Amino acid sequence: MQKVYITDVILRDAHQSLIATRMRTEDMLPACGMLDDIGYWSLECWGGATFDACLRFLKEDPWERLNKLKAALPNTPLQMLVRGQNLLGYRHYSDDVVRAFISKAAANGMDVFRIFDALNDVRNLKAAIEAAKASGKHAQGTICYTTSPVHNIAGFVALGKELAALGCDSIAIKDMAGLLTPYAASELVKALVDAVDAPIHLHSHATSGLAEMCQLKAIEAGCRHIDTALSSWSGGTSHPPTESLVAALRGTNFDTGLNLDKLQAVNSYFAKVRKKYRRFESEFTGIDTQVHVFQVPGGMISNLANQLKERNALDRIGEVYKEIPEVRKDLGYPPLVTPTSQIVGTQAVLNVLTGKRYESITNEVKRYLQGGYGKAPAPVNRELQNRAIGKEELIDCRPADLLKPEFENLRHEIGLLAQNDEDVLSYAMFPEVGKQFLEQRSTDSLAPEPLELESATVDSVKKAPTEFNVALHGESYHVKVTGAGSKNDTLRHFYFTVDGIPEDIVVETLDEIVLGGGAQGAVKSAIARKRPRPSSPGDVVASMPCNILEVTVKEGQKVVAGQGVLVTEAMKMETEVTAPIAGIVKAVYVVKGDAVNPDEVLIEIVAVG
Ligand code: MN
Repeated sequence: MQKVYITDVILRDAHQSLIATRMRTEDMLPACGMLDDIGYWSLECWGGATFDACLRFLKEDPWERLNKLKAALPNTPLQMLVRGQNLLGYRHYSDDVVRAFISKAAANGMDVFRIFDALNDVRNLKAAIEAAKASGKHAQGTICYTTSPVHNIAGFVALGKELAALGCDSIAIKDMAGLLTPYAASELVKALVDAVDAPIHLHSHATSGLAEMCQLKAIEAGCRHIDTALSSWSGGTSHPPTESLVAALRGTNFDTGLNLDKLQAVNSYFAKVRKKYRRFESEFTGIDTQVHVFQVPGGMISNLANQLKERNALDRIGEVYKEIPEVRKDLGYPPLVTPTSQIVGTQAVLNVLTGKRYESITNEVKRYLQGGYGKAPAPVNRELQNRAIGKEELIDCRPADLLKPEFENLRHEIGLLAQNDEDVLSYAMFPEVGKQFLEQRSTDSLAPEPLELESATVDSVKKAPTEFNVALHGESYHVKVTGAGSKNDTLRHFYFTVDGIPEDIVVETLDEIVLGGGAQGAVKSAIARKRPRPSSPGDVVASMPCNILEVTVKEGQKVVAGQGVLVTEAMKMETEVTAPIAGIVKAVYVVKGDAVNPDEVLIEIVAVG
């Protein structure tokens, strides 16, 4: 017997690939008894996106989720995905933070650590592998599979040997984009099995329609571990269906020993759960053979589609697909997986939406070209590199070697909001979102995003409180809203009484009006800061809808052309916005945290002399 072992990704990668990682703990727990009874080799349940979505959208403590899952799944090893030295975040952490994170994850119930680096730079995996081993847990080294003029079997085998030499208990082939073909899988697995003793795992996305064939050929070549997803969450950008693979191998040398009736029962539970999250279903969840041309991973497709949809530019996804290989080549052919998928994807979106390649370069592309993420698989575009990093120095050591221990600083920064080391680590992984989560927790104001989109219409005004008291200069007034004009009117009337006397105000309707605060909020946000439309060369604008992370200039300040004046964030990537002309900052229309659109002036600069 050469039994095949199954890792089900239903609690992590399946919902990450299909519904932007929104599955809530409340929908996982009722199934845990059934899941625990299946006999899986492991259940993948944690990773960067699940952690982020918990804090950002679901307002759940990811550590609490881990504890609950551990208690509900006593017989099944829990598995997580770790981005090497980036852990779950988007930057390199110092080694003391890596050790703290891995040991806390282990202490809270994590058993298997699948550790990868987007550039396959082994220097970035070492600290995490050592930490997992030091915690007495399973360390799985990962080969990010990709194709390019510089990637080949010999290179992947050399990487597999290095990972085994570091003490990895197993080696995973991570085919995040569904790029692997059946015969390539067979050849790669065979070469790895010959070269290393550690068992080989295969993680293959179904995006391109080949994953099941790849798994079968890999199994025949000596792969003993495959990742699958329960069928109601399988296929497309997700993974091959668990039940189908169990059926395919039943009665053969490779029999998984798993019971199809039990799988059927837990699958019907999850089929119902999926309906609850229809708002988050990506339009790109079917088979897409374009991946063989554009090499865009499943998770990246659903993210790009969601981001373009928010910008009313979904029709331009084809152009973005074409731009991605160009950017990838300029960056020395990185495999596309977090964070390189976002780095390449966002720059490609910027190149398409601005209409000019590299007119605007994200801070992450700059850092990448500087060597801040590690060594690129092949030489990068020198001209672009010179332009992006200017006079700054190249980094050719392991990026984390430049970092001093930082855990105690992080603990100090977050202060009393953190009740334990786990909270400090949540903050360390996601500084803005983690801090916001801890603040909201401290004021008991955590509220998950709604499952249904609330439409900001007159109806929501009608549902809002229509009577309230307002205190102004020591006097109290009773306000009663009696009516509102059509939301389609550019000038919209609101009718109300103040202490019984009828009044009426006219409000100019803005797209960005937020009705969350009810009638009061509506009036307030309409009167609030309105940014002018761009009209002169000194107007600083964003190239796409984004959030303001930082304003680096003040009114009255002198700036030179090309000087950074703002840092914006879109799709988790930072971009520095620079002064279009030299001059004096006449007006600043934004503050940190604002959400802005490209048709608004963010900062006004006037030329002098
Ligand atoms: Mn995956």
